[in-house]
Amino acid sequence: MSDSTAPVGLTTTIPVEVLLAAGRVPLDLNNAFITAPDPPALVARAERDGYPPNVCGWIKGIYGVALERGIRQIVAVTQGDCSQTHAMAETLQAEGVEIIPFAYPFDRDRELLQHQIERLMDRFGVAWEAVHAQYAALHEARRIVAEVDELNWRAGQVTGGEAHLWQVNCSDFGGDPVRFLAEARAFAEAAQGRPARDGDAVRLALAGVPPIYSDFFEVVERDLGARVVFVEVPRQFALPWAPETDIVTSYQRYTYPYDIFGRIEDLKTECERRKVRGLIHYAQSFCFRQIEDLLIKRRLDLPVLTLEGDRPGPVDARTRIRLEAFIESVEARRATGST
Ligand code: SF4
Repeated sequence: MSDSTAPVGLTTTIPVEVLLAAGRVPLDLNNAFITAPDPPALVARAERDGYPPNVCGWIKGIYGVALERGIRQIVAVTQGDCSQTHAMAETLQAEGVEIIPFAYPFDRDRELLQHQIERLMDRFGVAWEAVHAQYAALHEARRIVAEVDELNWRAGQVTGGEAHLWQVNCSDFGGDPVRFLAEARAFAEAAQGRPARDGDAVRLALAGVPPIYSDFFEVVERDLGARVVFVEVPRQFALPWAPETDIVTSYQRYTYPYDIFGRIEDLKTECERRKVRGLIHYAQSFCFRQIEDLLIKRRLDLPVLTLEGDRPGPVDARTRIRLEAFIESVEARRATGST
């Protein structure tokens, strides 16, 4: 019998409204892993338990943090995220963790998506009325996070690193949407009083899963002087369009769990709107999404730098040099009017 006050782990973004309607505390295991006091120790724990070296660092970290924090229930996305999640969920199930599957339909079929949400509702014993109420209750937080994003790319009063952080935290709202809203509101109000950042800095986008590096934004923005004005996947986690539509449509419009073509359209639209000059595509080592890099490069009319990270920790010297060279080349293209 599960403890109804214990957090429910998530392997990625799911319709979190269902858990909140049931009075449960969601915990995005990715966020818990990367903000843990010692993320490399969580990866090491997975490897000690027998995870091979050639498995994604995020998967090992999620496994490690779930056991370290004694999580007993996990909603695992079994379609639309990652095949490695299946095996990771099985290893946790073998440790007595209850795995609750959630599958995004590959073709975005509305009925199937609604059915998946209803399965989750049945599991947590909630009705549509309560789920719709939670969805509406999150509108203000999502609206403010969208405003923080605008304060980054439009006004230059927020860094890309800050916008990224607020957006990735929308998967679980820090487990407490009321506190999240108060903190987001206070942050946005304070940011509006800041001076704008360097308007001349090179404007970059970051595509792909969140980098596993601990200092990616510090290196790109503080050390190398560029501005990250668009963080693709975390913005999707934040569902910025949610206040405009119903919950099923919102999760249907969410690009990340479906095919790459929807993501490419979103990248094109947002890069143009935000006057992006170059794109960094982050691809995690041993991740199937690395294959999609070729489509991103073919279909986007922008210089693209593909970065591959493996383990949690600071940006390594080679990656830093590649970032520096890329930013210089984008700057040079801009100076000669090539982009
Ligand atoms: S980075 Fe790729 S392999 Fe790792 S958890 Fe995410 S989707 Fe799966």
